[in-house]
Amino acid sequence: MRAVTAQQIRQLERDLLAQRTSILGVAHDELTRVTEQSYAAIAGEVPDFGDQATAASLTDYDNEMARRHVEVIREIDDALLRVKAHRFGRCTECGADIAFARLRAFPTARRCVTCQSLHEKTFAVGATPTM
Ligand SMILES: [Zn+2]
Repeated sequence: MRAVTAQQIRQLERDLLAQRTSILGVAHDELTRVTEQSYAAIAGEVPDFGDQATAASLTDYDNEMARRHVEVIREIDDALLRVKAHRFGRCTECGADIAFARLRAFPTARRCVTCQSLHEKTFAVGATPTM
């Protein structure tokens, strides 16, 4: 018996689609805002170094935001593909069912708690090994 019912998967699929739509909306608003700000900066008077520094840090910030949005949307799309392939809710590492509570908190989770913590230990950046 599966830990997650077909009905629960449909609910999670709806959540994922709603989340995807809202992130696309936010990303679109940000893009509009950035475009307007960039135009204002270009259209302004001869910039001094202060303005250039501000424009540069704004670009870095927005690139980071855009990168994060793309990452989240990619994870949501992966999860939706797993729904279509009837692999959603199953750990991609060990094949065990992922608990519904975990999926409700992280609908894009692809690993069970055990495999996820192993994965994080293996791939953690700057982790201090404890013996
Ligand atoms: Zn697993």
